[in-house]
Amino acid sequence: MGEIVLDRVHKSYDGKTSAVEEISYTVQQGHFVTLLGPSGCGKSTTLNMIAGLEDVSGGTITIDGGRVDELPPDKRDLAFVFQDYALYPHMTVYENMAFGLRMRKTPKADIDRRVRDAAERLSLEPFLDRKPRDLSGGQRQRVALGRAIARRPAVFLFDEPLSNLDALLRDRTRTELKQLHQELGATSVYVTHDQEEALTLSDKIAVMSRGRLEQYGTPQEIYDSP
Ligand code: ADP
Ligand code: ADP
Repeated sequence: MGEIVLDRVHKSYDGKTSAVEEISYTVQQGHFVTLLGPSGCGKSTTLNMIAGLEDVSGGTITIDGGRVDELPPDKRDLAFVFQDYALYPHMTVYENMAFGLRMRKTPKADIDRRVRDAAERLSLEPFLDRKPRDLSGGQRQRVALGRAIARRPAVFLFDEPLSNLDALLRDRTRTELKQLHQELGATSVYVTHDQEEALTLSDKIAVMSRGRLEQYGTPQEIYDSP
């Protein structure tokens, strides 16, 4: 599960200029795909449309054959990890990780098992009763990752999830994130402007520039091309 198909996807916020121009590609099930390009080239817009957080102006996006924009949010089998973590400040780490499952009426025992499993994978067990404000930036980012993996969705969407971390923590979290993707057998789409990140993480890279898809291929294909 988790094949994503973009078919002539277009986005204009103002009806005149294009944030994203007629983009088509398929993200194969189980692949890790990065959207790479400079600020303002349309990466987040593309990711938000895949998430169904932003309407397409034209074209279609399907996940496993179903159009994301025709599914209510709680029926979309995907989890989004935001750059600024987007944790609920009044909830504990446990409650933050459990929230998405609660919304989907997951049985309590399952929620508990999944939250504890996610906490273990990310070494968050000691922090389950803390509030986000009592955590470091790196710990908060792991909670945001934990909240996503507790859901065990078919698709993970990441919007520059490591950019607020220092270099050492970024490398470590990047390795963890790729490992989790592989262990969970998920499909991942990951937004970054960092070439090295794209190179080390990706099965395929979608290179974007000014709203256009310039290239779509393996890291080797992208970096070996003239
Ligand atoms: P990136 O993620 O690559 O930095 P974005 O997708 O955020 O690029 O932006 C692509 C273009 O769309 C930019 O020109 C940006 O100014 C514009 N844009 C993004 N979000 C909005 C919005 N909510 N309203 C209007 N324009 C937007
Ligand atoms: P109930 O309302 O039936 O007491 P809860 O939702 O409070 O159920 O708890 C169900 C399970 O979730 C418990 O086994 C508990 O271990 C776990 N749990 C709930 N909240 C927390 C929390 N803040 N920290 C750690 N574990 C929690």
